[in-house]
Amino acid sequence: MKLTKIILRHLKMRMKSPFTTSFGSFQDKEFLLLEAIDDNGLSGWGESVAFHIPWYNEETVKTNWHMLEDFLIPAILNKEISHPDEVSDIFSYIRKNNMAKSTVEGAVWDLYAKEKGISLAAALGGQKEEIEAGISIGIQETVEDLLRLIDGYANEGYKRMKIKIKPGWDVKVLREIRKRFPEVPLMADANSAYTLEDIDLLKALDEFDLMMIEQPLASDDIVDHARLQKEIKTPVCLDESIHSYEDARKAIELGSCKIINIKIGRVGGLTESKRIHNLCREHGLPVWCGGMLESGIGRAHNIALTTLDNFILPGDTAGSSRYWERDIIEPEVVVENGWIKVPDKPGIGYEPNYDTIKEFTVFEKSFT
Ligand SMILES: [Mg+2]
Repeated sequence: MKLTKIILRHLKMRMKSPFTTSFGSFQDKEFLLLEAIDDNGLSGWGESVAFHIPWYNEETVKTNWHMLEDFLIPAILNKEISHPDEVSDIFSYIRKNNMAKSTVEGAVWDLYAKEKGISLAAALGGQKEEIEAGISIGIQETVEDLLRLIDGYANEGYKRMKIKIKPGWDVKVLREIRKRFPEVPLMADANSAYTLEDIDLLKALDEFDLMMIEQPLASDDIVDHARLQKEIKTPVCLDESIHSYEDARKAIELGSCKIINIKIGRVGGLTESKRIHNLCREHGLPVWCGGMLESGIGRAHNIALTTLDNFILPGDTAGSSRYWERDIIEPEVVVENGWIKVPDKPGIGYEPNYDTIKEFTVFEKSFT
């Protein structure tokens, strides 16, 4: 295949409710969409999961635009590609910027599957016809608010609840949840809010029978996490610390975690995601697919990836209506009794809605 034209769009979509991070709250989600068109006029789609502020990692919408415009798109335009695995080799001379790289790579995978006339899930080697949906709930004003949300999502059938924790919003909150929902599959994501100084508190979380605690320590650490995992029963899951197959290999060797959250953007694409998935399977570590408040395009990629067999634990992938009044794909992603049906149409299996995309586009540029 040859990408003869690429359209890069900067979108701004209003979420149903504000999202709170250490930088504060935001409700308008800004992100980049990349449409890659091949010499037969077929389009493949990729989404950048970088946020407009560098709270999750160092990449932003703006740094992604720069990387794509000045380096990644020129490196791939009009180049003959026989398989999407080649994209990471083409980009290998560029350090990091994984989310920017993944934006192009995701579009190439979609296009590759469309050219073959198979679903993206099938192109990746996935077998599942449906995947379990999980929900991620941010820090709320009150514990009561949180309990009400959990109750609602449990009634919708979501297979696991993930809550965000931080110092001051942890033991007390989890105790209340367990009192009200003793059986609900529950996990806690700390987004690096603790250090080894908090080890007693982290040990105290063992009593809540959590499926895992996600990224309790520093975002660039695997050494302290190994020490922590030896001290606590709750399985440690790494998110921010794992950027590549090599990071995963080292974390497994050190015993830094028992579970890995794979985010396609964080590790630079679907090819690397699959390599990490296979490595974890060899070592008996289950994986799951993390979410970044994606629009339907990114969500579709997550669904396809989750069809691989070692995605044993429910991920962050929820229905479109969890975040959006109106998504940019048709049909929208729907959760029924906690399950999402994997589309079997070619590529990502959902149709991008050009009218809706246009409505949310702030700026676009074509490259030929
Ligand atoms: Mg996380």
